[in-house]
This record gives sequence, structure tokens and C-alpha cells, in this order.
Amino acid sequence: MVHNFDVVIIGGGILGTSLSYFLSFINKSKSIAVIEQAHKVAFHTSGRNTGKVHAPYLYNPEKKKLFAKSAFHGYDMWEKYAALKQLPFKKDGVIEVALNKKGIKVLEKYLKWGKQNGLEEKDIEILDKEQIKKIEPEIKCESALYVYKDGSADYAKFTESLMNDSKESGTKFLLDTKATKIQKENGKWKITLNDQHEVFAEFLINAAGGEAINIAHDVGLGRNYTDVHFRGEYWKAPKEYHNLTKTSIYSVPDFPDYPFLDPHWIIRVDGTCEIGPNAVPVFSPYGYNKTENIKEFFPKMLEMLSSGARKAIFDKQFQELAMNEIQSSMSKSSMIDRVKRFLPKIDADKITEKGTAGIRSSVIDEKGKFVPDVILIDEDTSFHILNYNSPGATGALPFSAHIINHLNESGLLRSQDTDAQCGPWKFDDIVSRIE
Ligand SMILES: Cc1cc2nc3c(=O)[nH]c(=O)nc-3n(C[C@H](O)[C@H](O)[C@H](O)COP(=O)(O)OP(=O)(O)OC[C@H]3O[C@@H](n4cnc5c(N)ncnc54)[C@H](O)[C@@H]3O)c2cc1C
Repeated sequence: MVHNFDVVIIGGGILGTSLSYFLSFINKSKSIAVIEQAHKVAFHTSGRNTGKVHAPYLYNPEKKKLFAKSAFHGYDMWEKYAALKQLPFKKDGVIEVALNKKGIKVLEKYLKWGKQNGLEEKDIEILDKEQIKKIEPEIKCESALYVYKDGSADYAKFTESLMNDSKESGTKFLLDTKATKIQKENGKWKITLNDQHEVFAEFLINAAGGEAINIAHDVGLGRNYTDVHFRGEYWKAPKEYHNLTKTSIYSVPDFPDYPFLDPHWIIRVDGTCEIGPNAVPVFSPYGYNKTENIKEFFPKMLEMLSSGARKAIFDKQFQELAMNEIQSSMSKSSMIDRVKRFLPKIDADKITEKGTAGIRSSVIDEKGKFVPDVILIDEDTSFHILNYNSPGATGALPFSAHIINHLNESGLLRSQDTDAQCGPWKFDDIVSRIE
């Protein structure tokens, strides 16, 4: 049987699912399919992250404007959606600690950025050593940024619920289905599924997370980019530590170019606590274990050595950082010691259970530099979203509305009803907030 769709989205993570959600509301007559290789949505990064609904204080309002705006509006949207669907969401704040004078300057910058990105006086403030001691007696630091408008959620549950809404509006979710080959044939996309059968699409959206870059390469786009995968590992804290702090604690990154390297003290939405993530270089977006990494080692090394990533992997600072992270994967205490600097009470011997690791795929350009922002590639009949990293889950809803609006306005994918009600929001309203 031949299946024709108007739009096929590759990737049932939080991004592909959110895109399908808005598309299905404003394009009632278009046939839309989401193709996901796993047996459920959000099986990879979207269901394996820290679960924070991040306030936008870490993002330079000029350089990361779209991400900052998406995170800012994402918070309110998830809060509303969680209340409507009775899904877990907690406004539990986050504390970013500075361990030295240099760190205090960074906190001042974050305070400024947070306000420029929309946070109000009541949402964010700097506290000195004594003030923080009164609120969180176990924390050791020189100063701290208390961000009250920050939350915790379960993004796997959010994605699943969005999938159900999207299905009700007509989207087909093809799970356990891998897009194994993508070709243009007679002006349409011919997508081979599980090496067995084909579907055809007028328009293709690539939201394939850690594989988005490979899919772009397969159709001849984004050849100047490659990516590097980092596994973020977590350790679960025992019950006796669950009340050690009231809030999750992050520390000012030692290397601002690699802000994902510093493990945090995390309170999850269900009240359990974890330490993590680190960022161990691995060879696949699914490199959770040795078997997958060994299988992908040679192809990935060859790809990296023949691209801009070569410069990054021969960079001395990168090598040192990578070695540190590998060490933190092999030795539990070396990772936990990094959190112990600001939470001295933690005893690594009492922490014995690993959490669920998630993989971050960071794009590197031809000069060997990590690209800090999301990369969007337009083509007549396809759209590709690469490097969609933190705080991607927080901003997924407004970011997706923005992308769908962009496709509409640029004429790539004309939408019929841009003032449609999409669940609790009007599409036009979301777009006007983020533009
Ligand atoms: C350790 C870690 C912690 C993080 N913490 C936070 C946080 O606290 N807050 C926050 O906002 N963000 C956080 N992030 C970032 C956030 O999780 C990501 O930005 C977001 O999940 C990316 O979503 P996605 O849909 O693009 O990718 P994914 O969730 O990876 O989805 C892509 C999907 O595409 C599918 N796919 C790929 N290729 C194919 C193919 N050929 N055929 C079919 N299916 C395919 C994959 O199976 C996958 O399910 C974190 C990330 C990491 C790694």
C-alpha cells in the first residue's frame, strides 16, 4: 500500500512532536506523519534530561535571542499545559552558586541577562553568602543567584500527552519505524522505512535530534557541519539526602564555552535527587553502552577526522576536558567531588545507583568551533533543525510555533488557519510573543 503525506516529520522527540502538534491544529486538511524509530516518543534525549524548565538567565539576549525567548515563554506554556492535563510540574526554583570572586561577576552577568530576557525583579535576585546560608544551610559558596521562576517537569510525559493531542487532530505517529533512506523522486520525498517499504511526502521536516545532521547530509545539506556526542550521566542520591536542599543547585561553569560540563545537584519533579550530568564523549547519539560505541567508533572517528571536528579533537583544552569527563565516568567520586565543592555533606560511598543517561549532540563548524545556537536549514521542500540543545525541552512549544510560522510566512508550507486555537493557546498569540 502506498502512503502519501503532505508533511513527514522525522523524529518523535519533544521537538518533532511539538511541531506536529501546532501543524495539526492550523492545517486541519493536511496529512501529517511523525516517524519515530523507538517504540515510544521521547525515548531518547527528550526523556533522558535533567527535567528543568529553565529560566532564561544563562543565555546572552543578543546571541541566543530565540532560545532565550523560547525558554521564557516555554515556562508559562508548560505551567499552563501541565495544569490542564494534570501532569507533574513544580515551580521549585534553582540556585546558581559562585565559588569564587570570578564566579560572582558571572552571576551579575546572569542577573542582567535574565532581566533582559524578560524575568522580573521578583523572579531573580543575587544573595550573599550569609543570606544563602539562612535559606540553604548546607550550601557552601561565596554568592548565589536565586531564580524563583524555574521549574521541574517530566518531559517524557509532556511529549506523550502532546502526541495524543496531535493524534486527535489527525497526525499519524509511526513508531518503531526508522527512516532508513530519503530520496527525491518526481518532486516528492520518497522515504524508506525500516529498509522495507516507502512513504511519500510533499514536505519533509528533519527533527531527528542526534541524527538530524546525518539526515541533512543524506539530502546534500549542511555538509560544512559535523557533530560530537556527549553522554550525560547521573547518579541517584539515597533517600537520606532528599531533603538536603529545598532547591536544585547549579554552579557557575568553570569553562563558559562548555557550560554543560558542570554536574548539578538536582531535585526532580517527583522529589528524588540526583547528581549530574557530566559530558563523556561517545561515538553515537545512542551510545549509552559499550556495544553501540564500539560499533560506531571507526565510522565516527573517520567522519570527525575528515571534518572540522578534527581541529576540535586536536585542541589541547578540549582534550583535557574530554579526559576529565572520561575520568568522571570511570570514577564515581571524581564526578561527585565536583558537586561536593558546594554541597560538602555528600558522601560518595552512600551513592550507589546510576540514573538514566542522556546524549547531547553538539555541532561543530568547519573551523572546528562548537556552534552555540540552533541551526536552521531551509530548502524548497524540506526544513532541517540541527543542534537543538539545552534548554530545548523548555522552549519546545514556542520554538515550534515560531518554526511553523516561519514555514508559513516564507511560503514553504502554507498554513490555512493561523488564528486557530491550539489547545489552551491561540497560534497567533504565541507567535506574536516570540517574534
Ligand atoms: C543530559 C541532558 C540534560 C538536559 N537537560 C535539560 C533540561 O533540564 N531542560 C531543558 O529544557 N533541556 C534539557 N536538555 C536538552 C533537551 O533535552 C533537548 O534539547 C531536547 O530533548 C531535544 O529534543 P529533540 O526532539 O530535538 O531530540 P530527541 O529527543 O533526541 O528526539 C529526536 C528523535 O528522532 C528520532 N530519530 C532520529 N533519526 C531517526 C530516523 N532516521 N528515523 C526515525 N526516527 C529517528 C530519535 O529516535 C529521537 O527519538 C538536556 C539535554 C541533555 C543531553
